[in-house]
Amino acid sequence: MYLTNLSKNGIIKVMENTSSNQLQFSDLGLDKRLLDALVREGYVTPSPIQSQAIPPALNGQDILGCAQTGTGKTAAFALPIIQKLILNPPSKTLLSCPPNKRARAVILTPTRELALQIEQSFKAYGRYTKLKCSLLIGGVSQYPQELSLKQGADIIIATPGRLIDLLWQGACELANINTLVLDEADRMLDMGFINDVKRIIEFLPQNRQTLFFTATMPLEIRKLCDTILKSPVSISVTPPSSTVDKITQFVYLTDYSTKPDLLLWILQEQNIKSAIIFCRTKHGADRLATKLEKANIKTASIHGDKSQGARQNALSGFKAGRINMLVATDIAARGIDVDALGYVINYELPNEPETYVHRIGRTGRAGNTGIAISLCDYDEKDYLKDIEKLIKKPITQLDSPYPMTVFVKKEKKTQPRRSQKNKSKPNNLQKSNTQNKKNQQKNYHKKSSNKSNLINNTKKD
Ligand code: AMP
Repeated sequence: MYLTNLSKNGIIKVMENTSSNQLQFSDLGLDKRLLDALVREGYVTPSPIQSQAIPPALNGQDILGCAQTGTGKTAAFALPIIQKLILNPPSKTLLSCPPNKRARAVILTPTRELALQIEQSFKAYGRYTKLKCSLLIGGVSQYPQELSLKQGADIIIATPGRLIDLLWQGACELANINTLVLDEADRMLDMGFINDVKRIIEFLPQNRQTLFFTATMPLEIRKLCDTILKSPVSISVTPPSSTVDKITQFVYLTDYSTKPDLLLWILQEQNIKSAIIFCRTKHGADRLATKLEKANIKTASIHGDKSQGARQNALSGFKAGRINMLVATDIAARGIDVDALGYVINYELPNEPETYVHRIGRTGRAGNTGIAISLCDYDEKDYLKDIEKLIKKPITQLDSPYPMTVFVKKEKKTQPRRSQKNKSKPNNLQKSNTQNKKNQQKNYHKKSSNKSNLINNTKKD
């Protein structure tokens, strides 16, 4: 049974709930102010991580949640935190502390984008409360952040580097924290933040609740759990490989050199107006963005070398529809949450199959369907095999006018470059490849003159 309330946009968001005994938000012991905010957001039923984590978290228990973004884990920790803060107003002793010491909950997350997203969620779920959040992230001036701390924040949402800076400068104190959230702990480890996290934990009172979320459990993360969690309730939802079932996936086998043309062809052929396009490197992302701009497609790139302001502008422009294509690297794309994003394009396949799953998880969110399209050259065929192994199914191959014609690996960068003279004289293999390519493009146009969409374009073999 679903509630029939409409959100502010008139949109009802339904999240898949695999449990047979489907709970409602009102069954979880949440305050009316939170229930009203959830109606306003258009949420109908709690997702599995929410129905399993909210009751013990409200009870004050530690949580070890194995869940990735897209499962609804932000609300799973935000709702109990807000509820506990509103039901326990600050004591007189707390109010006598300087405002920059009054925060009672701290959320640590690896990237600025995730931090922003979490702040937006706290604001949305806490809209009928007076709680204040401070967002402490790197890449932007720290002055407004210091100011917001001086005005007194109930909740701090931070990336580890900036928080540690502010702690060392005495701009904030964490002595009154009751709840710590560690979000995407495995990513913190990958991104080299784990020591900062451990240092921050030393600033926190021992007597606190810890809500710990990670998508995977490498040894270092397990050790951290063992040291900071007290008899946690363990919850594990939707392992990465099964979330992709709702996303329709296609791959085009092509050459490295024809990827730009193939991409433009796909965008036109499939009438794709908006997509996130993933590249492996920052330079690759910038180069591709320039090519798309030249083709009159409104594009922005988002990666670690861009200033925080540029990243935020790109993201808000994309969400508002002013930018059609967002070319991203993996780190920067972490936490990008765009309602109803229809397409994810892997311009380059990632060498870690789990990254593919994270990438395509940007689409098909919150009950929506999504399409993931990958461009794979000969060098990436092993990556494709690993991905298919992880998701336990083959990805449908599609035909295009730009098929794979090069069946040898690219020369590694460490090998000597070909001289200009040699470059201008293609060898026999290259000559036959070029001829092959021309023939195949001609044949394709003959074969598919009346084919126009992904479905009737699917390879039959
Ligand atoms: P998260 O995993 O927290 O990043 O959430 C992923 C997306 O799901 C966000 O767009 C949320 O707004 C949305 N969401 C979270 N919980 C629910 C729910 N119970 N019903 C519908 N949408 C939800």
